[in-house]
Parts: sequence; C-alpha cells; structure tokens
Amino acid sequence: MTARAQEVLTQLNRIAGEVEAPYPHWLGSPADQGPSYCFDCASARVSAGEANFVDGGWPQDNDGCCHCEDCGRLLDYTLTEYGVESELEHFRGTRFRRAINPELAYHLARLLEHHDDQPQVLKLLPRVRRALSRMDLQS
Ligand SMILES: [Zn+2]
Repeated sequence: MTARAQEVLTQLNRIAGEVEAPYPHWLGSPADQGPSYCFDCASARVSAGEANFVDGGWPQDNDGCCHCEDCGRLLDYTLTEYGVESELEHFRGTRFRRAINPELAYHLARLLEHHDDQPQVLKLLPRVRRALSRMDLQS
C-alpha cells in the first residue's frame, strides 16, 4: 500500500509542478501574523499602513490549505496533524469527476505525503488513483 501511495504521490507532485506556490507572508508589527498573504498583497497592506514590514516568506506548517487572504492564490504549505484531519474531512466523499488540475494535485499531495504518519489519508487513494488513470486515457 505504501509503495502505491508513493507512486500516486509522485504523479501528483509532477502535475502540481505546473502551479507556482510562493511561500506565505504575514504582516509584521504591530499587526503580527494573522492571515497569510502572497508577497504582493502583504506589501500592499504594509504600504497602506497596516503594518511596519512584511514578515514570513518561508515554508510553514498549516492547519489547513493555504491561500492568500486577499487574492486567493495558492501559497506553499505543509499540513500539521490537525491540518491533515481537516483537509481529509474536506475531501471526504468528494468525487474527482474532472481531471486533477495542478492546484488540486498540490492539495492532494500535501495530504498523501502523510501516508506514513497518518495512514487514514490512504482512504483517498482509490478515488485519486481512478481520477489519475482517467487522465492517462485522455493524454
Ligand atoms: Zn495575494
């Protein structure tokens, strides 16, 4: 099962490679942390006087997936244990009817990379494999 998970993970990471996921940024003092932003949106808020500087810009464990609070673009993240539970709940019962686009592949890979320490993510594996095999037929 683990080898199979690894194979799917490799495929997902390959698809996800097409999407750019920059590291998250935050508002520095006096706002301090709070939501995540892409650099441009964080800079705009600093320019608007909400904070003195842009903080962050490095990899971060997250309690869920990570998007810029202002523009919604995908940001780089890895999941905490809680984050895995919450994302798994999000995808529970989801059928991947369409091709797995790069952004979805990114989210799924962040979950499946926990297959060793949180094997419950393997519940997703059959549905993801089916979706990936349909994509193979299309190409
Ligand atoms: Zn943004």
